[in-house]
Amino acid sequence: MNQTIKSLLEKFVFSTITFAITCTSQAQNIDIQLQGQRFAPHQAASPQQSVLTVPSSYQIKLGSNNQFKQISSTLYPGGIEFRFLTIGNAQGARAYDMLGWRTGTEIDQLDAKTASEIRAEAFFLDPQLLLSSAKDLKAIDTPNEWQAKYQFESFTDQAGRAATMVIDKQTQTVVSARSSTFSYYYHGQTSGQNGTTSPMLSVNLGDKLLAQWDTVKLNRFNDNQALEFQAPNGYQDKTPIGPLRVENLAAGVFRINGSASGYHMHFVVGEQSIAVFDVPFFPNEIAQIKKLIETTAPNKAISHIVFSHTHRDHIGGGSQLAQETTKIWVGKDAKQAIQRQLGDKLNAISTELSIEQNIDLGGRIIRIIPAPSSHASDMLIAYDAQSNTLFQGDFFMMPEVGPAPVGFPVNRELQEKITQLAIQPERIVSVHGRVGTIQELNQTVQLLRTTQH
Ligand SMILES: [Zn+2]
Repeated sequence: MNQTIKSLLEKFVFSTITFAITCTSQAQNIDIQLQGQRFAPHQAASPQQSVLTVPSSYQIKLGSNNQFKQISSTLYPGGIEFRFLTIGNAQGARAYDMLGWRTGTEIDQLDAKTASEIRAEAFFLDPQLLLSSAKDLKAIDTPNEWQAKYQFESFTDQAGRAATMVIDKQTQTVVSARSSTFSYYYHGQTSGQNGTTSPMLSVNLGDKLLAQWDTVKLNRFNDNQALEFQAPNGYQDKTPIGPLRVENLAAGVFRINGSASGYHMHFVVGEQSIAVFDVPFFPNEIAQIKKLIETTAPNKAISHIVFSHTHRDHIGGGSQLAQETTKIWVGKDAKQAIQRQLGDKLNAISTELSIEQNIDLGGRIIRIIPAPSSHASDMLIAYDAQSNTLFQGDFFMMPEVGPAPVGFPVNRELQEKITQLAIQPERIVSVHGRVGTIQELNQTVQLLRTTQH
């Protein structure tokens, strides 16, 4: 080990920063809590905005024998919260949807590599923790322009990956670090008062800012390992997704199931042509999906694609699916988001709607209805009266498996819209999750009301 760093580390051990060292000599019983924002491209509530700032919190507890427990929460427009609990060790991890709407009661299995990387990344969240736990730390060439102030070091992270850090020579603190995936920048050192407060942190992937953490707090926890890392009750192993296939929901109404992403696409077939509702991006699957549509409705063109809103997960595959004669319908101001994400060609065939419009598939009329919401101002819903099916995106999502979850404010907005339209849809479909019913929508709103009291 490099002498400067060795003495630097000894200084850490024997002077001020006893907290982190005590914790990390065994790297266990550390509880790290972060509050801040993540940044999500193509998910904003307004099509004018390209990147969404997502209020986020993150907690990870590091236990003995490589055990860890992670809870992450992100809050999207419309009050939609993702909250996942992940419990793991060196063998792998299991992720649980704590709010039961996205993956419901199904457990996501993570392999050993992913699990060890999640654990390893926790050590990068605090510069003292990182420095005190780094293995094989050694000086590497520091570029000339940095030499006066900084020393570059290489090390091996907790997942065994090559990593680097930059140490401020004067303060002997880590100012930035890089794992194989992410770059970490530690700002505004606050000297770790009482061992609880740490610098603000930003995390990048390449040039892209992924997260900005306003607070990073380290605490010790007195664990009862058996309880601390126990799996929650009421969850089950995931049902296999199965092959890519078409499900016939009602006469002329179809749903694509079995995509690796878990996303769904819907289409309605008239005497003349086909309308498609939302096109998630299906890497390597689109050719097969086109074949499935052709087999289901031979020799009929896709005359219309309706985008419920211009979030990436609802439109990403639009360019691959659109044909010569396809018209695309989007909500108010949405063309700029189409232009930004899908380019000139798709923008040229897109039309913004701010009033209701009927589309005719030949003997079958579909209503396209603007429904601006707190989730997305450019929201459209579509209603096929013949099958009594409502097509929507992100207003309401049922999990693939599990009961109706506690609703979000957007669920209530959809309920109000349905009341206003005086329709009683038999099924409500979305890119995400299983086919829902109006009774399930009402349950989520009822549960929201109960929890808010
Ligand atoms: Zn959305």
